[in-house]
This record gives sequence, C-alpha cells and structure tokens, in this order.
Amino acid sequence: MHEKCGVVGVSLTERGAARPLYYSIYALQHRGQESAGIVTHDGFQQYAHVETGLVGDAFAAEDLDGLRGSVGIGHVRYPTSGGTDACCAQPFSVSFKSGSLGLAHNGNLVNTDDVRADLEERGHAFTTQGDTEVIAHDLAHNLLESDLVRAVKRTMDRLHGSYSLTIAHDDTVMGVRDPQGNRPLCIGDLGDGYVLASESAAIDTLGGDLVRDVRPGELVVLAEDGSNFDSYQLFSSPRSANCFFEYVYFARPDSVIGGKLVYEVRRELGRRLWAESPVETDVVMPVPDSGRAFASGYAEAANEKPRLDPSGDDGDAGGTTDDEEPRVEFAEGLMKNRYVGRTFIMPTQDERERAVRLKLNPIKSTVEGKSVTVIDDSIVRGTTSTQLVELLKEAGAEEVHVRIGAPPIVAPCYMGIDMASREELIASDRTTEEVRDTIGADSLAYLSIDAIAQSAGRERADLCLGCVTGEYPYDIDDETTDRDVQRPAVGDSAVRAASSDD
Ligand code: 5GP
Ligand code: MG
Repeated sequence: MHEKCGVVGVSLTERGAARPLYYSIYALQHRGQESAGIVTHDGFQQYAHVETGLVGDAFAAEDLDGLRGSVGIGHVRYPTSGGTDACCAQPFSVSFKSGSLGLAHNGNLVNTDDVRADLEERGHAFTTQGDTEVIAHDLAHNLLESDLVRAVKRTMDRLHGSYSLTIAHDDTVMGVRDPQGNRPLCIGDLGDGYVLASESAAIDTLGGDLVRDVRPGELVVLAEDGSNFDSYQLFSSPRSANCFFEYVYFARPDSVIGGKLVYEVRRELGRRLWAESPVETDVVMPVPDSGRAFASGYAEAANEKPRLDPSGDDGDAGGTTDDEEPRVEFAEGLMKNRYVGRTFIMPTQDERERAVRLKLNPIKSTVEGKSVTVIDDSIVRGTTSTQLVELLKEAGAEEVHVRIGAPPIVAPCYMGIDMASREELIASDRTTEEVRDTIGADSLAYLSIDAIAQSAGRERADLCLGCVTGEYPYDIDDETTDRDVQRPAVGDSAVRAASSDD
C-alpha cells in the first residue's frame, strides 16, 4: 500500500472549518487524485465526507454545509498502481469509547502487519487493509489508558516507517511527523486560527502565513478555539530522513520546505546540472511541467559560463557578454495537454506509451533541424524519455540530449511514493550509457546526490535516498539500511513472528 498523499488540519476561532479545509486540500491536489475527504467536529459530534475522485468533484456545496464545526482535517489520496480502491479513502474516521477519531496519513508504515496482528489478538477488528486504520485503533486503545500526548507517544513508539499525520480527536486537531521526518508537514497562522498542511502552498491559498515546519518527532496540538498551538518534542533522532524527491518532483514549486522555496531549489538543481554535464546545443527545453524550473536554471547557467569550445573566428574564449547572443535558446519545444492525467498510473506499458503522445506534442519550429537538450526531473521506467526522444526526432531534431534533475532511480520507494518495482525501473540494472542507448538519446546525464543535498541546503545524511542508493533509512524486510535503526518489537505476536522465521 503505497500512498503519497496530502494532509491538512485546521482549528478556527469562529468560522466553519469545512471551506478552509476544502480549499487547502484543493491546493494539495497534486499530491493525490484518487480520493478526497474532510472530517470536522462541532464540539458534540464528528462529521465526515469522503469520496473517490478529484476534490472539485468530491464535494457539492451541500456536502460542505453538512460538515459542521470550526475544527477538522482533510486528505487527498494518491492513486496506487492497483487502481482505485474505495476502502482506503481518507480521512479514516471512527468512534470509540475514548471519543471520535479522524486520521489523515501521508507516508507508509513498514511494520503495519506486526501492529495489526497484535491489535487483532486484543480483539480489534479491521475493515480495511490500510495502515491508517491500524494507527487509529492503536491510538484509540492508548487513549483509554492515558492522556492525549502520552497516547500519541505510545502509538509512535510502536509505529515504524514514514508518516505525517493530521489527527482529530473530538475537537482537538493535531499534527505529527515521524521521528525522521520523511514526509513534509508545516504550520500556518491564519489570523483567526491555525492550519497544518503537507505543503505551505495550502497555507498561501488560505491567506495565512507559514510559521514553520513541524519538526521530525514533534507533536503539534492546535487549541480548540484556534488561539494558539502547543508543541511536544516526543522523539528526537540523530538523523532526519527527508524525502529528496519532494524537492525534485513531488512538492509544488511555490511551496517552502525547510525554509527553501522549492522553485529556487529546482532552478539551482538545473544550474548544477549544467555545471556537472554541460552540452552545447541550439535549444534547451523543459519537459512540461515537471522539468520547467530545472530547464530555466540549466539555460541560465549555460548562458553565463565561459564557452566550452570557442570557435576560432570568435576571437576570445570569454563568457557571454551583454551584447552577445545567448549561447543557447531557452524555448518551449513541447506542448502539454493539461487534461491528461499522470501517465504512470496507466496499467499497461502500451497504454503508457500512447499516453505520453497524448500528453506531449513537439513544436516543430523549435526543434526542426536543431540539436536540442530536453530536461526532465526524473526517469522512472523510461517511458516518457523514450517516447520523447522518438517524438523529437520525428519532428526533425538532429540531436536529442537528455538531462535529468535527479540521480538514477535504482530501487523502489517504500515510504509512500508509488514508483514501481525494481524490475520496472530502467536504471535498476543498466549503466547510464545503457539507459542512454535504451531511450535512444544522443547523450544522457543525471544529477549527483551531492548536488541535491547542497541545493536543498541539507546534509546528505539527513535525506532519504532509498530509491537512488537502495539503502533505506528504515528497517525494511529484505532491504539494507543506511543507518542505525531498529523496528520496535510489537507485542507477543511480533516475538512469535520473529521466532517462527527460523
Ligand atoms: P517514466 O516515464 O520514466 O516512467 O517516469 C518519468 C516521468 O514521471 C517524469 O516526467 C516525472 O516527472 C514523472 N515522475 C517522476 N517521479 C514520479 C513518481 O514518483 N510518480 C509519478 N507518478 N510520476 C513520477
Ligand atoms: Mg514529468
């Protein structure tokens, strides 16, 4: 169950929460298109509306009117490769003896089976296969025995893996990040309340101000009247495991993560891509939309740097000066049909290939008779780049050079990104030269891991690099880890499961 989702939570002084929640999940639509949901509380009762589909289709005005109260949480769910499955739409909501709970989860636990088995042994029955329900039951159980903060801490003690959660316990809204902070979460000030959101773009949409990121291992509890929030640093890890892919692809470019505007990080990645692998061509063009910021940084750097191969009659080998023509043209060479969904969810390879042509079409005048550099954020299966090279050559490009703003993806993601299995990843068993040959490009270069750490302003040791190194920051069955982490032992069942292995 790989879910790469968006979560929000709000607590307001007087206004109803439904509309701010609706707008904020709308702002996070890129993080998940499979289902959308909101859970609110009016001090007496919990209200929920969860539907499959896009945010704009999932809620009618009456649905929002029915979501009463000034606190609540919301969620958009990422499609899994298995297609739609209504059981796992979120927020998950349920009422227990300890009160009502709503839970919205971004991330992926790696010890769900242990925790579920332990809870089943204690009489909990589950209605879904998802890990969110497991968290909800565990938390409900702990809430019977201890106060809110202690209950959350006990639940976090048992969970292993990646999670950014927004939680509504009756009319108290909370946000929490796993101790290594794999998925993002931030706090915003709305003037008459507070908001928690996966990305700051959602805070902007509500007209609020970004306060700061929620820290790894931190629990943030919003006051019921929206007047302030409390912070509890429940866990601290020597190292973080922030997903580098948020900077490269997933987050909106207008979001701020770790104090950095994602757009500027991507432009810097593009500049470093030029520095690491320059190629002089007539035109630099992005793969829209995900390659845009990279391509503009790449072209900018290309036009600043001294010439690689000064032509004899040019006289000097100096950099471009104001009166000189830019060395490379930066142009739109590909038009995107914005109504086509994300190609990777197409179940068969044939459908995926057709979809690339449906989604992208070359602009002939930009490419005909020219040597072009096309820039994208990443290569996963290689479908997009293979099709693109072919399309551009059909449109008359003489040479097609591919530059990628991420390192080769060699291993699956277990942390909530629905990527692909190892066999499907084009770079998992190929050298860069072999990938170049497979996609048919005249040259191919990826970006280094260090360039990403430097551009994001993070230590390499504080990033989750599992998909590009094959070494994970969590203890995952049959995989290696890049740090000193251990799964918590969960109840008797975990001990039994461990001993029955041998
Ligand atoms: P490929 O066609 O090589 O399988 O995928 C690469 C394309 O998918 C790139 O254009 C990139 O923007 C996009 N992409 C990169 N990472 C992901 C991801 O985790 N999920 C999805 N759905 N698309 C991705
Ligand atoms: Mg793309």
